[in-house]
Amino acid sequence: MGKVFFARQNTYDQPEIDSAVKRVFDRFGGISHFVKAGERVLLKVNLVSGHDVTRRVTTDPSIVRAVARMVLDAGGVPFIADSPGIDSFQRAAEKAGFVQVAQELGIECRELTDPVELPHDDKAQFHRISVSKYVLEADKVISLAKLKTHGQMYLTMGVKNLFGCVPGRLKAGWHYNVGLNRERFAGLLLDIYAGVKPCFTLLDGVIGMHGDGPTSGDPYDYGIIAGTQDALTMDFWLCKMLGGRLEDYPLYLAAKKRGYSQCELDPSDVEGDISADWSYSGVRIPKTRSMRLVPIPFVERLMTSRPVHIPERCIGCGRCAAVCAAGALRHENKRLYFDYGKCIRCYCCHEMCPVKAIEFKEGLLVRLANFFTR
Ligand code: SF4
Ligand code: SF4
Repeated sequence: MGKVFFARQNTYDQPEIDSAVKRVFDRFGGISHFVKAGERVLLKVNLVSGHDVTRRVTTDPSIVRAVARMVLDAGGVPFIADSPGIDSFQRAAEKAGFVQVAQELGIECRELTDPVELPHDDKAQFHRISVSKYVLEADKVISLAKLKTHGQMYLTMGVKNLFGCVPGRLKAGWHYNVGLNRERFAGLLLDIYAGVKPCFTLLDGVIGMHGDGPTSGDPYDYGIIAGTQDALTMDFWLCKMLGGRLEDYPLYLAAKKRGYSQCELDPSDVEGDISADWSYSGVRIPKTRSMRLVPIPFVERLMTSRPVHIPERCIGCGRCAAVCAAGALRHENKRLYFDYGKCIRCYCCHEMCPVKAIEFKEGLLVRLANFFTR
Protein backbone atom coordinates (compact mmCIF):
# COMPACT_ATOMS: atom_id res chain seq x y z
CA MET A 1 0.00 0.00 0.00
CA GLY A 2 1.17 3.52 -0.76
CA LYS A 3 1.35 6.59 1.38
CA VAL A 4 -0.94 9.56 0.88
CA PHE A 5 0.30 13.03 1.78
CA PHE A 6 -2.22 15.79 2.50
CA ALA A 7 -1.28 19.48 2.43
CA ARG A 8 -3.77 21.96 3.83
CA GLN A 9 -4.48 24.63 1.22
CA ASN A 10 -7.45 26.97 1.25
CA THR A 11 -6.98 29.27 -1.74
CA TYR A 12 -5.89 29.11 -5.37
CA ASP A 13 -3.37 31.90 -4.86
CA GLN A 14 -0.58 30.83 -7.26
CA PRO A 15 2.48 31.25 -5.00
CA GLU A 16 0.70 29.31 -2.24
CA ILE A 17 -0.34 26.59 -4.67
CA ASP A 18 3.22 26.37 -5.98
CA SER A 19 4.63 25.80 -2.53
CA ALA A 20 1.88 23.34 -1.48
CA VAL A 21 2.33 21.26 -4.65
CA LYS A 22 6.10 21.26 -4.18
CA ARG A 23 5.68 20.16 -0.58
CA VAL A 24 3.54 17.23 -1.69
CA PHE A 25 6.02 16.10 -4.35
CA ASP A 26 8.95 16.60 -1.96
CA ARG A 27 7.46 14.04 0.42
CA PHE A 28 7.97 11.46 -2.34
CA GLY A 29 11.47 12.54 -3.31
CA GLY A 30 10.65 15.60 -5.42
CA ILE A 31 9.61 15.90 -9.05
CA SER A 32 12.99 14.66 -10.26
CA HIS A 33 12.20 11.31 -8.65
CA PHE A 34 9.42 10.93 -11.23
CA VAL A 35 10.56 12.93 -14.26
CA LYS A 36 13.90 12.66 -16.06
CA ALA A 37 15.27 15.16 -18.57
CA GLY A 38 13.70 14.82 -21.99
CA GLU A 39 10.72 12.70 -20.89
CA ARG A 40 7.30 13.53 -22.29
CA VAL A 41 4.92 13.87 -19.36
CA LEU A 42 1.18 13.75 -19.87
CA LEU A 43 -0.66 15.88 -17.33
CA LYS A 44 -4.08 14.20 -17.26
CA VAL A 45 -6.44 16.93 -16.09
CA ASN A 46 -10.12 16.58 -15.25
CA LEU A 47 -11.86 18.46 -18.07
CA VAL A 48 -15.27 16.72 -18.32
CA SER A 49 -17.04 18.89 -20.89
CA GLY A 50 -15.36 22.16 -19.97
CA HIS A 51 -16.85 24.44 -17.35
CA ASP A 52 -16.06 27.85 -16.02
CA VAL A 53 -13.37 27.55 -13.32
CA THR A 54 -15.69 28.96 -10.66
CA ARG A 55 -18.03 25.94 -11.03
CA ARG A 56 -15.23 23.78 -9.50
CA VAL A 57 -15.89 20.97 -11.97
CA THR A 58 -12.41 20.88 -13.49
CA THR A 59 -8.86 20.72 -12.13
CA ASP A 60 -7.92 24.28 -11.23
CA PRO A 61 -5.47 25.85 -13.72
CA SER A 62 -3.24 27.03 -10.87
CA ILE A 63 -2.55 23.36 -9.97
CA VAL A 64 -1.86 22.49 -13.60
CA ARG A 65 0.45 25.50 -13.92
CA ALA A 66 2.37 24.54 -10.76
CA VAL A 67 2.96 20.94 -11.86
CA ALA A 68 3.78 21.86 -15.47
CA ARG A 69 6.41 24.35 -14.27
CA MET A 70 7.96 21.72 -12.00
CA VAL A 71 8.15 19.22 -14.85
CA LEU A 72 9.79 21.88 -17.05
CA ASP A 73 12.29 22.67 -14.29
CA ALA A 74 13.16 18.96 -14.12
CA GLY A 75 13.92 19.02 -17.86
CA GLY A 76 10.74 17.16 -18.84
CA VAL A 77 8.34 18.00 -21.65
CA PRO A 78 4.87 18.35 -20.11
CA PHE A 79 1.67 18.43 -22.11
CA ILE A 80 -1.87 18.94 -20.83
CA ALA A 81 -4.41 16.46 -22.12
CA ASP A 82 -7.88 14.99 -21.73
CA SER A 83 -10.86 13.97 -23.82
CA PRO A 84 -14.30 15.52 -23.34
CA GLY A 85 -17.40 13.34 -23.82
CA ILE A 86 -19.00 15.15 -26.76
CA ASP A 87 -17.73 18.72 -26.84
CA SER A 88 -15.06 20.43 -28.86
CA PHE A 89 -11.83 19.89 -26.93
CA GLN A 90 -10.52 23.36 -27.75
CA ARG A 91 -13.61 25.12 -26.45
CA ALA A 92 -13.78 22.99 -23.31
CA ALA A 93 -10.07 23.44 -22.56
CA GLU A 94 -10.35 27.21 -23.03
CA LYS A 95 -13.28 27.40 -20.62
CA ALA A 96 -11.35 25.44 -18.02
CA GLY A 97 -8.29 27.68 -18.38
CA PHE A 98 -5.96 24.93 -19.66
CA VAL A 99 -5.28 26.49 -23.07
CA GLN A 100 -4.16 29.69 -21.38
CA VAL A 101 -1.74 27.79 -19.09
CA ALA A 102 -0.31 25.95 -22.09
CA GLN A 103 0.18 29.17 -24.08
CA GLU A 104 1.78 30.92 -21.15
CA LEU A 105 4.32 28.08 -20.63
CA GLY A 106 4.79 27.27 -24.32
CA ILE A 107 3.59 23.69 -23.92
CA GLU A 108 1.04 21.59 -25.78
CA CYS A 109 -2.59 21.21 -24.76
CA ARG A 110 -4.12 18.38 -26.71
CA GLU A 111 -7.12 16.14 -27.01
CA LEU A 112 -6.71 12.45 -26.26
CA THR A 113 -7.65 10.87 -29.59
CA ASP A 114 -6.51 7.88 -31.68
CA PRO A 115 -7.59 4.83 -29.69
CA VAL A 116 -5.17 1.92 -29.27
CA GLU A 117 -5.49 -1.17 -27.13
CA LEU A 118 -4.43 -0.86 -23.49
CA PRO A 119 -2.17 -3.62 -22.11
CA HIS A 120 -3.80 -5.58 -19.30
CA ASP A 121 -2.68 -7.77 -16.42
CA ASP A 122 -4.09 -11.14 -15.34
CA LYS A 123 -6.52 -9.52 -12.88
CA ALA A 124 -8.17 -7.47 -15.63
CA GLN A 125 -11.91 -7.82 -16.11
CA PHE A 126 -11.86 -6.34 -19.64
CA HIS A 127 -9.24 -7.23 -22.23
CA ARG A 128 -10.17 -4.90 -25.09
CA ILE A 129 -10.04 -1.41 -23.64
CA SER A 130 -8.93 1.36 -25.98
CA VAL A 131 -7.19 4.45 -24.70
CA SER A 132 -5.60 7.30 -26.63
CA LYS A 133 -2.25 6.46 -28.21
CA TYR A 134 -0.93 9.66 -26.59
CA VAL A 135 -1.35 8.04 -23.18
CA LEU A 136 0.75 5.02 -24.09
CA GLU A 137 3.33 7.05 -26.00
CA ALA A 138 3.98 9.37 -23.05
CA ASP A 139 7.00 8.45 -20.93
CA LYS A 140 5.09 9.34 -17.76
CA VAL A 141 1.50 10.12 -16.80
CA ILE A 142 0.76 12.43 -13.88
CA SER A 143 -2.93 12.43 -12.99
CA LEU A 144 -4.26 15.84 -11.87
CA ALA A 145 -7.60 14.82 -10.44
CA LYS A 146 -10.45 16.78 -8.84
CA LEU A 147 -12.25 15.90 -5.62
CA LYS A 148 -15.97 15.55 -6.40
CA THR A 149 -19.01 13.49 -5.63
CA HIS A 150 -20.45 11.45 -8.50
CA GLY A 151 -24.03 10.40 -9.17
CA GLN A 152 -23.15 7.06 -10.73
CA MET A 153 -19.89 6.14 -9.00
CA TYR A 154 -20.44 7.81 -5.61
CA LEU A 155 -17.14 9.75 -5.74
CA THR A 156 -14.68 10.73 -8.44
CA MET A 157 -11.07 11.26 -7.45
CA GLY A 158 -7.76 9.67 -8.49
CA VAL A 159 -8.74 6.41 -10.16
CA LYS A 160 -11.86 7.67 -11.93
CA ASN A 161 -9.91 10.59 -13.44
CA LEU A 162 -8.21 8.19 -15.84
CA PHE A 163 -11.48 7.24 -17.55
CA GLY A 164 -10.84 10.34 -19.67
CA CYS A 165 -7.94 8.46 -21.31
CA VAL A 166 -10.67 6.65 -23.30
CA PRO A 167 -11.24 8.89 -26.32
CA GLY A 168 -14.49 10.82 -26.90
CA ARG A 169 -17.63 8.85 -27.48
CA LEU A 170 -15.97 5.52 -26.73
CA LYS A 171 -16.66 6.49 -23.11
CA ALA A 172 -20.42 6.46 -23.70
CA GLY A 173 -19.99 3.11 -25.44
CA TRP A 174 -18.41 1.68 -22.28
CA HIS A 175 -21.28 2.96 -20.19
CA TYR A 176 -23.65 1.11 -22.49
CA ASN A 177 -21.49 -2.02 -22.57
CA VAL A 178 -21.28 -2.21 -18.77
CA GLY A 179 -24.93 -1.28 -18.23
CA LEU A 180 -26.47 -0.81 -14.82
CA ASN A 181 -23.86 -2.61 -12.79
CA ARG A 182 -21.65 -0.08 -11.00
CA GLU A 183 -19.19 -2.63 -9.72
CA ARG A 184 -18.57 -3.78 -13.26
CA PHE A 185 -17.96 -0.19 -14.24
CA ALA A 186 -15.62 0.18 -11.26
CA GLY A 187 -13.81 -2.94 -12.53
CA LEU A 188 -13.32 -1.13 -15.83
CA LEU A 189 -11.84 1.84 -13.95
CA LEU A 190 -9.46 -0.49 -12.12
CA ASP A 191 -8.35 -2.01 -15.44
CA ILE A 192 -7.68 1.44 -16.90
CA TYR A 193 -5.78 2.51 -13.79
CA ALA A 194 -3.67 -0.66 -13.85
CA GLY A 195 -2.93 -0.26 -17.57
CA VAL A 196 -2.17 3.47 -17.61
CA LYS A 197 -0.01 3.28 -14.46
CA PRO A 198 0.25 6.99 -13.57
CA CYS A 199 3.55 7.62 -11.81
CA PHE A 200 1.85 10.11 -9.49
CA THR A 201 -1.64 11.38 -8.67
CA LEU A 202 -2.16 14.89 -7.38
CA LEU A 203 -5.67 15.71 -6.21
CA ASP A 204 -7.13 19.21 -6.32
CA GLY A 205 -9.31 19.30 -3.22
CA VAL A 206 -8.85 22.99 -2.45
CA ILE A 207 -12.42 23.66 -3.52
CA GLY A 208 -14.13 20.53 -4.81
CA MET A 209 -17.74 19.58 -5.26
CA HIS A 210 -20.49 17.84 -3.33
CA GLY A 211 -24.10 17.05 -4.07
CA ASP A 212 -25.02 16.28 -7.69
CA GLY A 213 -21.48 15.76 -8.96
CA PRO A 214 -19.54 15.50 -11.15
CA THR A 215 -20.85 18.65 -12.85
CA SER A 216 -24.04 19.93 -11.20
CA GLY A 217 -23.17 19.89 -7.52
CA ASP A 218 -22.12 22.74 -5.27
CA PRO A 219 -18.60 23.87 -4.36
CA TYR A 220 -17.21 22.54 -1.08
CA ASP A 221 -14.08 23.91 0.60
CA TYR A 222 -12.20 20.70 1.36
CA GLY A 223 -9.03 22.76 1.78
CA ILE A 224 -6.53 20.09 0.71
CA ILE A 225 -4.12 19.04 -1.96
CA ALA A 226 -3.31 15.33 -1.78
CA GLY A 227 -0.53 13.42 -3.47
CA THR A 228 0.21 9.72 -3.82
CA GLN A 229 1.70 6.98 -5.94
CA ASP A 230 -1.30 4.84 -4.99
CA ALA A 231 -4.55 6.53 -6.00
CA LEU A 232 -6.67 3.62 -4.71
CA THR A 233 -5.47 4.11 -1.15
CA MET A 234 -6.07 7.85 -1.45
CA ASP A 235 -9.59 7.38 -2.83
CA PHE A 236 -10.58 4.96 -0.06
CA TRP A 237 -9.30 7.21 2.72
CA LEU A 238 -11.08 10.21 1.28
CA CYS A 239 -14.31 8.24 1.02
CA LYS A 240 -14.13 7.71 4.78
CA MET A 241 -13.12 11.30 5.53
CA LEU A 242 -16.01 12.64 3.48
CA GLY A 243 -18.44 10.56 5.52
CA GLY A 244 -19.04 8.00 2.78
CA ARG A 245 -19.58 4.28 3.33
CA LEU A 246 -16.93 2.08 1.75
CA GLU A 247 -19.52 -0.66 1.34
CA ASP A 248 -21.49 1.71 -0.96
CA TYR A 249 -18.44 2.78 -2.96
CA PRO A 250 -18.34 0.68 -6.15
CA LEU A 251 -14.58 1.16 -6.58
CA TYR A 252 -13.96 -0.29 -3.13
CA LEU A 253 -16.26 -3.24 -3.76
CA ALA A 254 -14.59 -4.03 -7.08
CA ALA A 255 -11.12 -3.76 -5.53
CA LYS A 256 -12.14 -5.98 -2.64
CA LYS A 257 -13.43 -8.63 -5.02
CA ARG A 258 -9.98 -8.68 -6.63
CA GLY A 259 -8.29 -8.97 -3.25
CA TYR A 260 -6.46 -5.64 -3.50
CA SER A 261 -4.49 -4.95 -0.34
CA GLN A 262 -5.54 -1.26 -0.39
CA CYS A 263 -8.94 -2.36 0.95
CA GLU A 264 -7.31 -2.98 4.35
CA LEU A 265 -6.92 0.63 5.33
CA ASP A 266 -3.86 1.38 7.44
CA PRO A 267 -3.95 4.73 9.31
CA SER A 268 -0.18 5.05 9.07
CA ASP A 269 -0.58 5.60 5.30
CA VAL A 270 -2.14 9.00 5.94
CA GLU A 271 0.53 11.69 6.30
CA GLY A 272 0.84 15.46 6.30
CA ASP A 273 -1.45 18.11 7.71
CA ILE A 274 -4.41 15.83 8.45
CA SER A 275 -4.59 12.45 10.14
CA ALA A 276 -6.55 9.30 9.38
CA ASP A 277 -9.37 10.27 11.75
CA TRP A 278 -9.98 13.57 9.94
CA SER A 279 -13.60 14.03 8.86
CA TYR A 280 -15.58 16.60 6.94
CA SER A 281 -19.08 17.50 7.97
CA GLY A 282 -22.13 17.98 5.80
CA VAL A 283 -20.70 16.54 2.58
CA ARG A 284 -23.63 15.52 0.38
CA ILE A 285 -22.74 12.23 -1.32
CA PRO A 286 -25.25 10.76 -3.81
CA LYS A 287 -27.34 8.12 -2.06
CA THR A 288 -26.42 5.02 -4.02
CA ARG A 289 -26.51 1.56 -2.54
CA SER A 290 -24.52 -1.52 -3.34
CA MET A 291 -26.34 -3.82 -5.77
CA ARG A 292 -24.21 -6.89 -5.07
CA LEU A 293 -27.06 -8.94 -3.74
CA VAL A 294 -29.62 -8.06 -6.36
CA PRO A 295 -28.07 -8.19 -9.84
CA ILE A 296 -31.47 -8.25 -11.57
CA PRO A 297 -32.11 -5.32 -13.95
CA PHE A 298 -35.60 -4.58 -12.60
CA VAL A 299 -34.37 -4.48 -8.99
CA GLU A 300 -31.22 -2.62 -9.98
CA ARG A 301 -33.35 0.14 -11.46
CA LEU A 302 -35.23 0.48 -8.18
CA MET A 303 -31.90 0.64 -6.36
CA THR A 304 -30.62 3.56 -8.40
CA SER A 305 -31.67 7.14 -8.88
CA ARG A 306 -33.20 8.04 -12.22
CA PRO A 307 -32.52 11.19 -14.20
CA VAL A 308 -35.37 13.71 -14.31
CA HIS A 309 -35.79 16.86 -16.35
CA ILE A 310 -36.17 20.36 -14.89
CA PRO A 311 -37.82 22.05 -17.92
CA GLU A 312 -37.68 25.60 -16.57
CA ARG A 313 -33.85 25.49 -16.61
CA CYS A 314 -33.53 23.81 -20.02
CA ILE A 315 -32.04 25.79 -22.91
CA GLY A 316 -32.85 23.10 -25.47
CA CYS A 317 -29.26 22.39 -26.54
CA GLY A 318 -29.87 18.65 -27.04
CA ARG A 319 -26.48 17.58 -25.60
CA CYS A 320 -28.17 15.18 -23.17
CA ALA A 321 -29.87 13.17 -25.92
CA ALA A 322 -26.74 13.28 -28.09
CA VAL A 323 -24.61 11.61 -25.40
CA CYS A 324 -27.10 8.88 -24.40
CA ALA A 325 -25.58 5.64 -25.68
CA ALA A 326 -28.60 3.60 -24.55
CA GLY A 327 -31.05 5.47 -26.79
CA ALA A 328 -33.13 6.10 -23.69
CA LEU A 329 -33.59 9.82 -24.16
CA ARG A 330 -35.34 11.90 -26.81
CA HIS A 331 -35.23 15.67 -26.96
CA GLU A 332 -37.93 17.69 -28.69
CA ASN A 333 -38.66 21.41 -28.26
CA LYS A 334 -37.05 21.71 -24.84
CA ARG A 335 -38.85 18.62 -23.61
CA LEU A 336 -37.12 15.37 -22.70
CA TYR A 337 -38.69 11.94 -23.01
CA PHE A 338 -36.95 9.25 -20.94
CA ASP A 339 -37.40 5.54 -21.55
CA TYR A 340 -36.55 4.35 -18.04
CA GLY A 341 -36.75 0.72 -19.15
CA LYS A 342 -33.75 1.32 -21.41
CA CYS A 343 -31.96 3.79 -19.16
CA ILE A 344 -28.73 2.35 -17.69
CA ARG A 345 -28.38 5.12 -15.07
CA CYS A 346 -25.00 6.24 -16.38
CA TYR A 347 -26.00 9.92 -15.84
CA CYS A 348 -24.00 11.05 -18.86
CA CYS A 349 -27.03 13.25 -19.73
CA HIS A 350 -26.78 14.90 -16.32
CA GLU A 351 -23.03 15.27 -16.69
CA MET A 352 -23.28 16.93 -20.11
CA CYS A 353 -26.08 19.36 -19.25
CA PRO A 354 -24.58 22.85 -19.03
CA VAL A 355 -27.39 24.37 -16.93
CA LYS A 356 -28.25 21.74 -14.28
CA ALA A 357 -31.53 20.92 -16.00
CA ILE A 358 -31.26 17.18 -15.23
CA GLU A 359 -31.38 16.07 -11.62
CA PHE A 360 -31.59 12.69 -9.86
CA LYS A 361 -34.64 11.17 -8.30
CA GLU A 362 -33.89 8.37 -5.86
CA GLY A 363 -35.16 4.91 -6.67
CA LEU A 364 -37.79 3.37 -4.39
CA LEU A 365 -35.47 0.80 -2.79
CA VAL A 366 -32.78 3.41 -2.21
CA ARG A 367 -35.30 5.58 -0.38
CA LEU A 368 -36.40 2.64 1.75
CA ALA A 369 -32.83 1.56 2.50
CA ASN A 370 -31.83 5.09 3.44
CA PHE A 371 -34.94 5.52 5.60
CA PHE A 372 -34.24 2.37 7.63
CA THR A 373 -30.51 3.03 8.06
CA ARG A 374 -30.70 6.73 8.97
S1 SF4 B 1 -31.08 8.72 -20.10
FE1 SF4 B 1 -29.23 9.57 -19.16
S2 SF4 B 1 -28.79 8.18 -17.46
FE2 SF4 B 1 -30.21 7.11 -18.81
S3 SF4 B 1 -28.89 5.94 -20.19
FE3 SF4 B 1 -29.31 7.89 -21.21
S4 SF4 B 1 -27.57 9.20 -20.65
FE4 SF4 B 1 -27.57 7.46 -19.22
S1 SF4 C 1 -31.67 19.16 -20.32
FE1 SF4 C 1 -29.73 20.23 -20.41
S2 SF4 C 1 -28.53 19.13 -21.95
FE2 SF4 C 1 -30.66 18.53 -22.22
S3 SF4 C 1 -31.50 19.92 -23.78
FE3 SF4 C 1 -31.94 20.84 -21.77
S4 SF4 C 1 -30.21 22.18 -21.36
FE4 SF4 C 1 -29.55 20.82 -23.01
